[in-house]
Amino acid sequence: MSAATSATELEERAGALARRFAGVFGAEPDGVWCAPGRVNLIGEHTDYNNGFVLPFAIDRSALVAVRLRRPGQDPEADTDVVRLASTYAQTGLSRAEFSTGGLEPGLAAGWAAYPAGVVYALAQHAGASVPGFDLFLDSTVPVGAGLSSSHAVEVAVIVALNDLLGLGLDRPGMARLTQYAENEFVGAPTGIMDQSASLMGAEGGALFLDCRSLDSEIVPLPLAEYGLSVLVMDTRVEHSHSDGGYSARRQSCERGAAALGAESLREVPADADLSGLDHETQRRVRHILSENQRVLQVAQKLRDGAVDSIGELLTASHISLRDDFEVSCPELDLAVDAALAAGAMGARMTGGGFGGSAIALVRHDDEDAVRAGVLSAFADRGFREPALFTVLPADGAGHVQLTAPGRQ
Ligand code: ADP
Ligand code: MG
Repeated sequence: MSAATSATELEERAGALARRFAGVFGAEPDGVWCAPGRVNLIGEHTDYNNGFVLPFAIDRSALVAVRLRRPGQDPEADTDVVRLASTYAQTGLSRAEFSTGGLEPGLAAGWAAYPAGVVYALAQHAGASVPGFDLFLDSTVPVGAGLSSSHAVEVAVIVALNDLLGLGLDRPGMARLTQYAENEFVGAPTGIMDQSASLMGAEGGALFLDCRSLDSEIVPLPLAEYGLSVLVMDTRVEHSHSDGGYSARRQSCERGAAALGAESLREVPADADLSGLDHETQRRVRHILSENQRVLQVAQKLRDGAVDSIGELLTASHISLRDDFEVSCPELDLAVDAALAAGAMGARMTGGGFGGSAIALVRHDDEDAVRAGVLSAFADRGFREPALFTVLPADGAGHVQLTAPGRQ
């Protein structure tokens, strides 16, 4: 798909959303904003250890149409009510409401927690008081697949409010604020990677991000030019951050760093002596140290134009996540093994683990065989059929130009 085609598609989606917004809320939106989901190419669980990650924004995104309340014009103009609508999970229209005044964690439930978390973070950490607004969400990022549908929602909301309220926030600043939204309001102890990818991704590139300094660099990821695809294999096993596995891993890492006398595992050399740690903590730490090295190696290969030689490092990352960090699951392992057996150049689970998606780097010529191999392996094991689709590196979040009337 060319850039021009995807831009037109986005404009068309935005136009349709603006019309639905007007139908539901009875007025035109002030604008439409877009924020992509992401795939993490490599660098898993390294973000909250101040390490390196290499995600890319994908061509699946959350769009929000937003209209601020205007004093004197709207019947409810002096209220701080936020009205939300989403075409969520094909269950038809999902509506929700909250007030921006006196917002505290717990005062907005369900998916309203994500936009509310952004309003809360803006008030707490950026001194911004947000008036009421109406918002219609339409997202093509699958939920719970490890492609960060939740951050796509948060990022779309913050770029919209940043523009509409003239807040002047920069992209790393918005990444931090959406992290606060997710950590403090939603209650998910996630790192900075997902929002950064959604905010700073670029078409045809991956975001090499140092999660300690937040320095970032777009490294080329010219998949199509090399006849390659990244195939997402969504196991449809729902992962959840709240079931304890994710926070247990964070605690292991913190324990390991403290026992090694370091502020974070980033400060621990790759060849550090880990023999003083208990066996489990050793394995957890070993994953983080080796994963950071793999990210550096993949980033260098991409800078050198050697995208076709990163496969083994992707697979090594999966083995480390499976055996040392122990965040894989039978479905993710099967997806990786079956993809490799059918000719993928490399494959790994992506996202936090315990379900969600794996990715495979595949030559176009092998894509059909890999798809067939994965589907039949899942059928043979009696697992639910996975959803398979390819993704391309896309631009980060921003305002979407509405299709001019007459061009539709
Ligand atoms: P993911 O890995 O996809 O981010 P999470 O569990 O972190 O999974 O976030 C999923 C949650 O994000 C959903 O349960 C819902 O609350 C919210 N969400 C994502 N997409 C939408 C949408 N299109 N409409 C409403 N809520 C959404
Ligand atoms: Mg999420």
